[in-house]
Amino acid sequence: MAGILVIAEANEGALAPISGELLGAARKLSAEGAGSVTAFIAGGEALGNELIALGADAAIVDTNPALQGALAEVYLPAVQAALQQSGADIVLIGQTALGRDLGPMLAFALDTAVSMETVDLKYQGKLIATRSCYGGNARAEVSFKNAPAIATVKAKSFDALAPDASRTGTVTTIDVAGEARIKILGVQKAESTGIRLEDAPVVVSGGRGLGDPSGFKMLEELAALLKGATGASRAACDLGWYPPSQQVGLTGKVVSPNLYIAVAISGASQHMAGMAGSKNIVAINKDPEANMVKVAKYAVIDDYRKVIPALIEEIKKL
Ligand code: FAD
Repeated sequence: MAGILVIAEANEGALAPISGELLGAARKLSAEGAGSVTAFIAGGEALGNELIALGADAAIVDTNPALQGALAEVYLPAVQAALQQSGADIVLIGQTALGRDLGPMLAFALDTAVSMETVDLKYQGKLIATRSCYGGNARAEVSFKNAPAIATVKAKSFDALAPDASRTGTVTTIDVAGEARIKILGVQKAESTGIRLEDAPVVVSGGRGLGDPSGFKMLEELAALLKGATGASRAACDLGWYPPSQQVGLTGKVVSPNLYIAVAISGASQHMAGMAGSKNIVAINKDPEANMVKVAKYAVIDDYRKVIPALIEEIKKL
């Protein structure tokens, strides 16, 4: 039997964006010959129907309330039951708080391997997963000796398909959960204001070349005018100039906005790993040889202190 099992996730009753992205990846693999797509989700039947609309051929909904705590050890037997029911030989999981634990746990339980932090997938008679290695300086393609092939996939690596309510598929329910050895005492949400970096259509990011943290005030003003979010390179975050939650890159967030404005960022491979999927890249940098300038669609070679205020002034006139 062949096929793909997508482990979808929901937050507070709504499908998490990664679920649609995994289904987008699964449909691509299916078109390449990997078989049909089954989605697994903890929750109610309505979520199952949403998964069908987003590209699943079938959905397995686990109604056991214990799964709401999103602990991998509680998910494990449920996912194994779904795997058996679907007959899938490929499992796609999000590189999320749950997926980081569930991927290796499932691989260990089934005596197979997992590709973590996967950024691309293809099917050539078998699953081939692409992931970063050597600190983000290279990418490795891996295949699997044993079945099922398991991959945890980074957010924004694939596009979700537009929901199509006319799609049909079977939704079945199961009631399976493992034992929790951990008790969740409380959940503290990270404070965030404005548009989420990962979802912003425009991202204005600053780097070490800003010289000091005050440069970010300028970038925030520009981002607000463009209805976008502000990001930063790791160097800027490590210097304490901007919150690590806004770091873009291999060890930060992955973004794929329509417009990415990189201000005083050199374009190291680890930064590129987080924004190379941006539709249009604009570099503002003093150095015409900077890698970011080379990959950018448009570049302004000058001191950002001159360029950004001029840009803000022009945008305000519009
Ligand atoms: P720099 O490389 O110092 O570049 C500063 C740039 O600013 C230069 O191009 C310079 O020409 C320009 N500049 C200077 N002054 C001005 C001015 N006045 N006006 C305009 N331009 C100016 N980095 C990340 O960003 N994200 C990650 O997730 C990440 N993960 C990593 C993981 C590992 C395992 C490792 C080893 C590294 C990681 N890094 C990451 C670090 C990465 O290798 C680079 O060190 C970092 O991205 C450099 O940041 P930067 O471009 O801001 O600084």
